[in-house]
Amino acid sequence: MTSAHRENPMIPISSVVLPPEVPDRIARVLSSGQLAQGQEVAELEALAATMAGSQHAVAVSNGTVSLQLALQALQLGPGGEVLTSSFTFAGTINAILNAGLRVRFVDIDDRFGMDADHLESQIGPDTVAILPVHLYGAACDMTRICSIAERHGLAVVEDAAQAHGAEWHGQRVGSFGLGSFSLYATKNVTSGEGGIVTADDAQLANRLRLLRNQGMSGRYQFETVGTNARMTDVQAAIAIPQMTRLDEITDARQSNAALLDDGLRDVADIECPRVNPNARHVFHQYTVRVRADSQVTRDHLSESLARQNIATGIYYPRAAYDYEIYRSHPRVTIEAQPGAERAAREVLSLPVHPQLQPRDIERIVDAISATVTGT
Ligand SMILES: *Cc1c(COP(=O)(O)O)cnc(C)c1O
Repeated sequence: MTSAHRENPMIPISSVVLPPEVPDRIARVLSSGQLAQGQEVAELEALAATMAGSQHAVAVSNGTVSLQLALQALQLGPGGEVLTSSFTFAGTINAILNAGLRVRFVDIDDRFGMDADHLESQIGPDTVAILPVHLYGAACDMTRICSIAERHGLAVVEDAAQAHGAEWHGQRVGSFGLGSFSLYATKNVTSGEGGIVTADDAQLANRLRLLRNQGMSGRYQFETVGTNARMTDVQAAIAIPQMTRLDEITDARQSNAALLDDGLRDVADIECPRVNPNARHVFHQYTVRVRADSQVTRDHLSESLARQNIATGIYYPRAAYDYEIYRSHPRVTIEAQPGAERAAREVLSLPVHPQLQPRDIERIVDAISATVTGT
């Protein structure tokens, strides 16, 4: 190993360190003989409902399926149009299309959330639901989104895949409408693969449980056409000890974000994340903008950091609709979304995960400053 490697160990963009009781919990599941639909799943659901400030939580196999089932549970009817963010992961769009619905996009504001002004102008006669995405762990403006939804009689499904424990004016995301969380390997709480749907309405929660389990109420009592979207108890056993420590996990992400803010605030050409004072940002990602008119390009900065063993991420390199599969899809409406297209050129996510040490953050800040000033 060279001295450069010793001094500059790799700083990954995400790092999974599970709480120490996870192996024992998994062992208990394995020896219990109940690997699915057991105690652990029930316990995780109770914790997840509290996490989202909702009455009910339904654990499912992943966060894409959780979005799809949330839309299906609402029985919005075929051909209905869902308005969603133009700057999100493909899972958001795939869930809407796989639920048989149509997609129209809403541009983002300067905090990467759904732009409420643009939202209102996108509503048309076929609009049935609004699907905001709390990207990077930042809550969208749910006051305005919910009031627009109410005025137009539209359902709200929140894509909170990246926003476990995030708040808007003290209210947890996932409790404004139906909430959808992902427990994928890199998310703030993980079970490897997994998802959670949250709901306040008992009937909707019941329909979600039916949809998850082949539409079955009692043994071979089929009430609706469902699917298999169940979570295993091993998955739940992995997630529970993180869910009980979510405040700790979030605190660590927030203090890392504060250190990055302090170090980068005065660095030319770098725009730190703007956080709404009424929001609790849980920093799934710490995403800066490298302005397109800067001395240093976003891609140059990312390559320079990679050479110094600092991983970064570009979430996402294109606007959500900017792929041939969606551009040519009969149920996707394509319109230019300048905010999303600019974000795709400018965003760079820096490591912010709880395992970072202050010296790692110093290295990140120093490397960025040096690259930007050309020293
Ligand atoms: C991760 C993610 C999803 C999909 O979740 P999976 O568990 O990977 O299926 C959906 N939307 C957003 C914004 C995500 O980040």
